[in-house]
Amino acid sequence: QAAFRNDLAPLLDLVGTGKESLSFMKKRIRHLAQQWLRATQRLEQKLKGQQGDQKHILIHIGFLTEESGDVFSPRVLKGGPLGEMVQWADILAALFLLGHSLKVTVSLKELQSNLGVPPGRGNCPLTNPLPFDLIYTDYHGLQQMKQHMGLSFKKYRCRVRVIDTFGTEPAYNHEEYATLRGFRTNWGYWNLQPSQFMTMFPHTPDNSFMGFVSEELNQTERQRIKSNKVGSMAVVYGKEASIWKGKEKFLAILNKYMEIHGTVYYETQRPPEVPAFVKNHGLLPQHEFQQLLRKAKLFIGFGFPYEGPAPLEAIANGCVFLQARFNPPHSSLNHEFFRGKPTSREVSSQHPYAEDFIGKPHVWTVDYNNSEEFEAAIKTILRTQVDPYLPYEYTCEGMLERIHAYIQHQDFCTMPSPPPPAKAQSPAMQSPPSPLALSPNATHLVWSPNAHRDPQAWPPADSLQVWLSEGRHSCTETCRLHGLVCEPTFFRFLNKKEVFLQLSITCDSTEYEMNHLYPAVAENVHECYLQKEPLLFSCAGHNTKYRRLCPCRDYREGQVALCRDCL
Ligand code: UDP
Repeated sequence: QAAFRNDLAPLLDLVGTGKESLSFMKKRIRHLAQQWLRATQRLEQKLKGQQGDQKHILIHIGFLTEESGDVFSPRVLKGGPLGEMVQWADILAALFLLGHSLKVTVSLKELQSNLGVPPGRGNCPLTNPLPFDLIYTDYHGLQQMKQHMGLSFKKYRCRVRVIDTFGTEPAYNHEEYATLRGFRTNWGYWNLQPSQFMTMFPHTPDNSFMGFVSEELNQTERQRIKSNKVGSMAVVYGKEASIWKGKEKFLAILNKYMEIHGTVYYETQRPPEVPAFVKNHGLLPQHEFQQLLRKAKLFIGFGFPYEGPAPLEAIANGCVFLQARFNPPHSSLNHEFFRGKPTSREVSSQHPYAEDFIGKPHVWTVDYNNSEEFEAAIKTILRTQVDPYLPYEYTCEGMLERIHAYIQHQDFCTMPSPPPPAKAQSPAMQSPPSPLALSPNATHLVWSPNAHRDPQAWPPADSLQVWLSEGRHSCTETCRLHGLVCEPTFFRFLNKKEVFLQLSITCDSTEYEMNHLYPAVAENVHECYLQKEPLLFSCAGHNTKYRRLCPCRDYREGQVALCRDCL
């Protein structure tokens, strides 16, 4: 049984020293400790003793190893990306507080010794069983494990969880399919279960949403922030000088109404590369950055960086976030930054989570090519009052609850049990035919009340609803349009010929093929297709030729990763 912990100090000793990135993470863990501990107590009460098993967990942060170049650590104090470090610090805190036994490694040598790779031996199978139930790593770490575990990598890869900021869609993950269909990238095709990839935001339900946390405010702090807000103060999103280039026009408009602050890194001997009317604080320590956000009215993004933690922190501290809409959306097909990333996701603004999951009055997404629209938005924002807001899934309790559920329920090492086979019918022993799992409900299918319900299945299958997509929509979008979320583990229930029939779809022919859009129907020619390769079940993806069968489920308010009965 995992006993939840009530002290984060021992975790700091596990993390190690000698890198700026590690100091940044430890500082963050220390700073958020009280908030984490309160959340742990609340979750413990909520679970009423159902804490589940303690796991032995290896956390190997591959991008921080010298062997992968460790390009991040030297940039921590120079405005380089910090989002990854924020997330790893929070993962460490959450796993530790949930009572698991942790080992943390940031070098190849430590990795080898913890895996039990014999010294001086290269790519050989491990001689002893792997001493970890779970390994949290990233793409760099995955590569290192593959290189040093020999054939044992295949055996144990089901225990791996890959922290993957932008996400990996099933079409890119399946080696043969990626190769045949042009979805190969430098990040590889690992043939993992897509839910083993864990993302920073709920980008695609094909992956698990890991997230991170933001600072939370109590009632007194909320009041204090509201009364101390400086109505005319704007902070620009971005720590690197490059984001200001070519933005003079917007800055001039903004400067008509507001005092502009920045936190752009610069060398003391070189003047900051931002316009003279900007008050640049230089790169701030995280808690000082939060203090700045507490005073500001507006946090404004100019298109880069994409999808970082800072906008959530700004909104949590009572700012309005104003950002650019991307039209056409940015993606790996049309934009340098995303090129080669294992996803075709269309990024519709600098921060689609803020746009889609939070929205007005906290988030304004406007077309920056239209300076009138831009100026009008600023004027309206200046008149708008907002309260600090943090979605539950980005609170400490929300993150603990989600990781706890994943650890206790996600099992990629044992295959899900198939529904019981229909009994052989003998004329003497006429048993009733096994009921269909799904039953029609006017526009869609729902789980049949009398269908077999596997008590071990997670999420529980009775939250399933099957909807048919329009050609222009992926299953992710289709489910969202119905107030639901796509649930890839349910594809196995609807990848059946009879499901087309139940939806009154005429199939002149039905084929099993490998295609990440299947099961689907090409309606005009009455051709139905089922999925041949379960690894290719995908919420992402659409093609006007097909209407897809989409498995949707409900979700908990503010916690999209979990269905209502998922705890
Ligand atoms: N941040 C900071 N000092 C600053 C500006 C930002 O410590 O002057 C922190 C901020 O609190 C956030 C983190 O940097 O948690 C990452 O922010 P961002 O959204 O810019 O993402 P990144 O591009 O760094 O991954």
